[in-house]
Amino acid sequence: EEVDFNHFLHNIVDRFEMIATEKNIHFARSIPKEQMLVHIDQDKITQVIDNIISNGIKYSPDGGTIAVHLLHQGNNLRLSISDQGVGIPRESQKKIFDRFYRVDKARARNIGGTGLGLAIAKEFVHAHRGEIWVESEYGEGTTIYFTLPYSGFKRGESDYV
Ligand code: ATP
Ligand code: MG
Repeated sequence: EEVDFNHFLHNIVDRFEMIATEKNIHFARSIPKEQMLVHIDQDKITQVIDNIISNGIKYSPDGGTIAVHLLHQGNNLRLSISDQGVGIPRESQKKIFDRFYRVDKARARNIGGTGLGLAIAKEFVHAHRGEIWVESEYGEGTTIYFTLPYSGFKRGESDYV
């Protein structure tokens, strides 16, 4: 369905903002005012963003900021979600999108999860013809990026000049 992505994203962040105050985690939003109408499966993209933000909360100590940044870049919109948590060692970064992979099993045992969240996120983003990737500095924090196709044209506007 056609979704007003800015509005959709604000709603998701609003929902997490309330939960995250328990861990004293705050959100910083950088979401353009420009309306971005995109054709997405809203339930699936909600699951993608929910998992990324939950990870940001789960793998961060108390305090810190989660930054949500949306931008329109060429034929895509690009969303990034950055945390100031434990980070991911370089050698593990490729594997976090694999099914059941969890960094450091000893550490992970104390934190709930199955290791499926990002594998599902990758599958859903690819089904939308987007890309998903990670940048992380061990001990500093993690940013997950993903893109979704977005022409930038509003309803009724033509691609032809
Ligand atoms: P699930 O999402 O199924 O509840 P999970 O969170 O362990 O379980 P994924 O979301 O797929 O699984 O993440 C895989 C692993 O990648 C995590 O177990 C964790 O080790 C690492 N990881 C993911 N996101 C972060 C993050 N923001 N900071 C640090 N480590 C992360
Ligand atoms: Mg997860």
